[in-house]
Amino acid sequence: MEKKTALITGSTSGIGLAIAEAFAQKGFRIVFNGLEENGADIAAQLAQKHQIEFLFSGANMLSPAALRQMVQEATDRFGGVDVLINNAGIQHVAPVEAFPEEKWDAILGINLTAAFHLVKAVWPQMKTRRFGRIINIASAHGLFASEFKSAYVAAKHGLVGFTKTIALEGAPYGITANAICPGYVRTPLVEKQVFDQAQAHHLPEEEVIRKVILAKQAIKEFVPVAAIAELALFLASEHAATLTGAALPIDGGWSAQ
Ligand code: NAD
Repeated sequence: MEKKTALITGSTSGIGLAIAEAFAQKGFRIVFNGLEENGADIAAQLAQKHQIEFLFSGANMLSPAALRQMVQEATDRFGGVDVLINNAGIQHVAPVEAFPEEKWDAILGINLTAAFHLVKAVWPQMKTRRFGRIINIASAHGLFASEFKSAYVAAKHGLVGFTKTIALEGAPYGITANAICPGYVRTPLVEKQVFDQAQAHHLPEEEVIRKVILAKQAIKEFVPVAAIAELALFLASEHAATLTGAALPIDGGWSAQ
C-alpha cells in the first residue's frame, strides 16, 4: 500500500499522542502538532521508534494562518494530507453566569473553529485525489450536556454538526468525515477535573472518579486511549469507505441511557 500521511492536531499529549502512535505503527507519515514545550522531541522519539517520516508543527489552533501554513508544509514535504484528525481541545468548567468570556472564545476557537480552517485547507487536495478521511475527536458532550460545561458542550455539538455537513459535501469525492465521541479518558485534560472535583466534594480521588466523574458511564472505567486510537485507524482504512457522517460513541454505555 502506498504510504499515507496523517495530520493529527494536539498529538503531543493524551488521546492525540495515542492516535499518532497507532498510526505510526501502521507506517503512516505523521504531522504532529501541539503546544507541549517538548513537542518536537516527543514527535521525533515516536517517529524514531517506528521508523516513520514526520513533521512537527507548533501551530496554534487559534491562528488560521498558522493552520493553513501547517497544511502547506505537510503538502510540500509529503505531497498531501490523506487523513486529518482534529483532536486538539481544551476544557473549562464554570457556571454560565461566571463563565469567563475569553475561555468561551478559546474553547470555541480551539475545539470547533480550528477544525473548519483545517478542513477548508485540505479539502481541495482531497477532492482532487478523490480520497480523504476526516476524523473529529468530539466527545460524549457532543451528544449530551453536563452542567457547567457550556462552551465545551456547545463546541462539541457544533463539531458533530460540522462533521455531518462535510460528510454530505465530501460524499461525491471519496472524502468521509466522522466524529468519535469518547466518554472519560484519563489524560491531563481530565486529571485537572479529578483534582478539582475531589477538592469540591471533599472526597478521595478514587471515590470522586467512580461517584462523580464516571457517574454517567455504565462501565465505571476510563476509556483507554488505545481504544480510541484503534477506532480512528479503522475510520482511516479502506474498510470504512461507506462509514460517514457518524458520531460514534465510545463511552462505557453513557449514551445507552
Ligand atoms: P490533552 O490535554 O492531553 O491534549 C490536548 C492537546 O491539544 C495537547 O497536545 C495540547 O497541546 C493541544 N492543544 C491545546 N490547545 C491548543 C492550541 N491552542 N493549539 C494547538 N494545540 C493545542 O487532552 P486530551 O484528553 O487528550 O484531549 C484530546 C481531545 O479529546 C480534545 O478535543 C478533548 O476535548 C477530547 N476528549 C477528551 C476526553 C477526555 O476524557 N480526556 C473525552 C472526550 C473527548
